[in-house]
Amino acid sequence: MEWSYQGQNGPEYWSRLCTDFKRAEEEASWQSPISLNTAATRQEPKKDDTILFKKEKVKIKTDFFNHTVHLSPAEGNEASVVFQDKMYVLQDIHAHLPSEHIIDDHSFEMEIHFVYRSDDDQLLVCGVMGQSDYGAVSPLSGDLYNRFLKEDSLKKHYTLNLDLNVLIPDDSSFYHYSGSLTTPPTMGPVTWIVMKQPISLPTDFVKAFEKVIGQTNRPLQPVKERTVCFYH
Ligand SMILES: [Zn+2]
Repeated sequence: MEWSYQGQNGPEYWSRLCTDFKRAEEEASWQSPISLNTAATRQEPKKDDTILFKKEKVKIKTDFFNHTVHLSPAEGNEASVVFQDKMYVLQDIHAHLPSEHIIDDHSFEMEIHFVYRSDDDQLLVCGVMGQSDYGAVSPLSGDLYNRFLKEDSLKKHYTLNLDLNVLIPDDSSFYHYSGSLTTPPTMGPVTWIVMKQPISLPTDFVKAFEKVIGQTNRPLQPVKERTVCFYH
């Protein structure tokens, strides 16, 4: 099913494009993304084991579909996260421009989504904000620079080495709420983790994504009765 971010197949019409999209939007009273307002969150103490990212170097494959670049771990290259004693395995990394979530009225140049799935098929998506002028720049691996970053090559297929340490911030304070996928079918529930601290990206990295991918953020959805927790 053809959908897009503008025009007649844009976000306000997604639910009219097919019955699956319609059902997903209608059944869930919780849709993503939302505006995150720290003052309105339920504050939770973050313990050492509240969230555990297995951050390491993984071999990934790149692909281009649904309007953005997707990175997925090659077979045998598992990365995972444990949240509330449940383990989720990394399936996919992709980016939206500009950010989909808003943090304290602040939008960011990019939001990277790490999509994880548990053994019993539950989804957890971790959103990391990326900004090109935010403090020290993380050193991206040579593979990302030399092969992937060339503007005309973002859409090609590669197998690259990726160091997850540079894409997930050191400060693991995060927002947590129940939401949905932000692309059709926008189904849920999805366990959302949105990191408060952005990562700093090289300017040419953001520029390459802006040129090749462009605007790919779903508009904000109503928070309704949901509680957003802030673990810090
Ligand atoms: Zn996404």
